[in-house]
Amino acid sequence: MEVVLSYLVPTVLVVGTVVFMEWFAAWSHEHIMHGWGWKWHKSHHEPHDETLEKNDLYAVIFACFAVALFWIGSAWLWPLWWIAVGISLYGVLYFFMHDGLVHQRWPFKYVPRKGYLKRVYQAHRLHHAVEGRDGCVSFGFVYAEPADRLVKKLQENKRKYDPRALQDEDQQAVSN
Ligand SMILES: [Zn+2]
Ligand SMILES: [Zn+2]
Repeated sequence: MEVVLSYLVPTVLVVGTVVFMEWFAAWSHEHIMHGWGWKWHKSHHEPHDETLEKNDLYAVIFACFAVALFWIGSAWLWPLWWIAVGISLYGVLYFFMHDGLVHQRWPFKYVPRKGYLKRVYQAHRLHHAVEGRDGCVSFGFVYAEPADRLVKKLQENKRKYDPRALQDEDQQAVSN
């Protein structure tokens, strides 16, 4: 019993939190950042020369939340401490994948050529393939759908959000 409490429960809490955070990050990216929170996220979808983006404030909010949980967890409710570890671990993954690998916000250049890292890289590149907040695909950061499926979704979205594209296609079909 002792072993269960000291190893198994923390492991489940940390791994479970990391999985939940990927779901929550994807959900909030789609519904908050590309919704009513676009004001901050917009800075991430526009080209610029600044080191920081307003969008980084979202990461600060997540970090504050984790710090609060560490604090409450160490003082009163120990499971929260492990949940805070999970959130922090997810933060590290997010920075590595999104800020590092995809957006190259680190001092060296490395573009993955194969496997899982390439898939995540391509998926988030496709997230940035659309101008503006509507019609984007792939909102997660650690899990990614295969690129060909995302490209198909992008084309469907293009029809939905940009009726002119559809008209062009129709005209092409007519003139062919
Ligand atoms: Zn976005
Ligand atoms: Zn991005």
